[in-house]
Amino acid sequence: MQLPREVIVGDDVLGKVGETCTRLGFSGSVLIVTDANVQSIGAAPAHASLQSSGFKVQEVLVEASSLPQVRQVEREIEKFKPSVVAGVGGGRDIDVAKLSSANKGIPFLSIPTAASHDGIASPVVSMKGYSKPYSFMAQAPIAIMADVGIIARAPIRMLASGCGDVVGKYTSVRDWRLAHRIKNEYYGDYAADLALMSARLVMRNAHIMKAMSETGIRTVVEALVSCGVAMSIAGSSRPCSGAEHLFSHALDVTAPHPALHGEQVGVGTIMCAYLHGANWQLIRDVLRRIGAPTSARELGIEDKHVIKALTIAHKIRPDRYTILGDKGLTKEAAERVAQVTGVVE
Ligand code: ZN
Repeated sequence: MQLPREVIVGDDVLGKVGETCTRLGFSGSVLIVTDANVQSIGAAPAHASLQSSGFKVQEVLVEASSLPQVRQVEREIEKFKPSVVAGVGGGRDIDVAKLSSANKGIPFLSIPTAASHDGIASPVVSMKGYSKPYSFMAQAPIAIMADVGIIARAPIRMLASGCGDVVGKYTSVRDWRLAHRIKNEYYGDYAADLALMSARLVMRNAHIMKAMSETGIRTVVEALVSCGVAMSIAGSSRPCSGAEHLFSHALDVTAPHPALHGEQVGVGTIMCAYLHGANWQLIRDVLRRIGAPTSARELGIEDKHVIKALTIAHKIRPDRYTILGDKGLTKEAAERVAQVTGVVE
């Protein structure tokens, strides 16, 4: 079980990256993995802080979470021999930094500039270029440093997406229990409760998210970190990824222009809650209050792509048993669930 040693959430966190790396026992050089959009607001202050603590710093820019980018960063690691790799930015930066450092046996520091999904704290990566569009284990971050001031400057849509990812645990934990009962799959109460508690925390605070207040951002970041820890404890993404995630991964395949991960997961959660016979109206109302999408139209995706995604979701990852069962939904069943829940018209 790998767990983060430090979680720092607050103001001017980026100015403390250097002293934090020193405290964690690192020395010599640090490789920063970032992208052009966040280089000046995220990587630059982290870079300056590391330099003033005496570290040699190298930056590498990535454009996508893809295999070639992971290989590129691995080559930089071989050349530069950093003591730690820092991912500074959104999903792709964090994922590429996490996987390349894990492959090279170097610790990884997570410095998210948006609170849009639980990859900021989990040992899991989501990567394109592999045979299946889903996530797999890499390594947990040695520390997570979330600067509330920087995260507040990201579009509100990113925070709403993070909320959607957390609310998804309402059904992913139900799927896990189902797999335990039907397939005798290992089930861990502690990891499941941690994931569910995060979902409850975000649901209870749904009304404060639109204001992008410090309390709201802290709530989401802490919930995302708890989800990441739940996955570390379970040793897989099981507690945090059920049919609502399979639906989102399937939409990434069927929709020409997919929405954000957490936005799609949120809409998937409404429909999966319906299939579980749970309170799907509660999920829909919470997402509305947050300002997250609750329908295909709000996702900017045509109804037909949503229906198609529902019918193929069970094939994305056949080893992950969910409420969709081994055979998945028929087109008629998919249309019914999407219509009853108001996801399609
Ligand atoms: Zn997710």
